[in-house]
Amino acid sequence: MSLSSNFFCDLATPGVQALQPYQPGKPIEELQREFGVSDIVKLASNENPLGPSPKAVAAAQEALAEIHRYPDGNGYLLRQALAAHHDIDPICVTMGSGSNDLLEMVARAFLGPGREAGFARHAFAIYAIASQAVGATLVQTPANPPDHAQPCGHDLDAMQAAITANTRVVFIANPNNPTGTWLTAEELERFFASVPRDVIIVLDEAYVEYAEAAPGYRQGADWVRRYPNLVVTRTFSKAYGLAGLRVGYGLSSPEVADLLDRVRMPFNVSIPAQAAAIAALTDQVHVQTSVELNRKEMARLQDVLGAMGLSWLPSAGNFLCLRVGPRAGDIYQALLRQGVIVRPVGGGYQLDEFLRVSVGLPRENDRFLAALASLRDQGLLEVSP
Ligand SMILES: *Cc1c(COP(=O)(O)O)cnc(C)c1O
Repeated sequence: MSLSSNFFCDLATPGVQALQPYQPGKPIEELQREFGVSDIVKLASNENPLGPSPKAVAAAQEALAEIHRYPDGNGYLLRQALAAHHDIDPICVTMGSGSNDLLEMVARAFLGPGREAGFARHAFAIYAIASQAVGATLVQTPANPPDHAQPCGHDLDAMQAAITANTRVVFIANPNNPTGTWLTAEELERFFASVPRDVIIVLDEAYVEYAEAAPGYRQGADWVRRYPNLVVTRTFSKAYGLAGLRVGYGLSSPEVADLLDRVRMPFNVSIPAQAAAIAALTDQVHVQTSVELNRKEMARLQDVLGAMGLSWLPSAGNFLCLRVGPRAGDIYQALLRQGVIVRPVGGGYQLDEFLRVSVGLPRENDRFLAALASLRDQGLLEVSP
């Protein structure tokens, strides 16, 4: 929503005046209202198509009996569970209303006017939004060139070279959304070692569960002990299937966690969300089943798309950034009319010739592939034979 002439705009802070709101994937109900189509397939927000663990649902339901009370504002049980899961002190765990909340806490604690926030081109949009909202200067560095093994992925050397005395935070997504590209443990270690200790490094691992099999990939929780300026962010929204409950967390040194806690909204994670997250952690079989489904369906999608003559960016996540050419916007709209929601990544993401598609259930992926094939047959989607 944006109002063309908004008197109050002049009253907002300069960062907010220039801010564009985050564009989420289109909700199913919205497409139903707008187009009157039913039987909609949403492959637009990288949610787990299997849903959450039944144990998490049961725990959330049970917790509803207590919602006249405020939640445990310190998240004692959840932080204990996460600390055990990561073999780390609970004092290093900051709970968030989604991992998005952690990104905002970092921005509020460490950024502001006169301070610089670094991130790569095509990086997750919230880094720029959270930084700009608090008045920081955005420093976007070039991504890897097309002939790189990870085209459009983060170029850590460029990010390092852009660090100045005013840089307070750099944001890295591994793997990155919307590209799907990832960084190797070796590249990250070199970067961490080269970044001054007075720069907070955010390592956003929203898709870590899916990424662990990617060549060279290593999850970052262990690095928190070695780099006191590192904040690793995690979420229950993706592989754990709890996007609607809003729960995530940060892992960092106790010193950085203390600062994040100062700007954390009181009671930021609800009672059902805390209960569901604790239960979800105990059901690693569900996570593994979800990761395995993703692996199989990702391979199948790539087989069919490759046979169609399409190409995509390398992905360690549960989504593909697919090159569909200069008519990406029309193709997005045409897919909507067939009841298939994917994600446009032009605009701020600067991936004008791509669409991002989440890996769904087999029948959902079939719907997407069939819709895409029909657009090819109509000549809207041009493919090289
Ligand atoms: C989805 C996503 C998140 C977080 O979402 P939350 O639901 O707020 O946890 C964070 N980073 C990236 C790169 C994502 O794709």
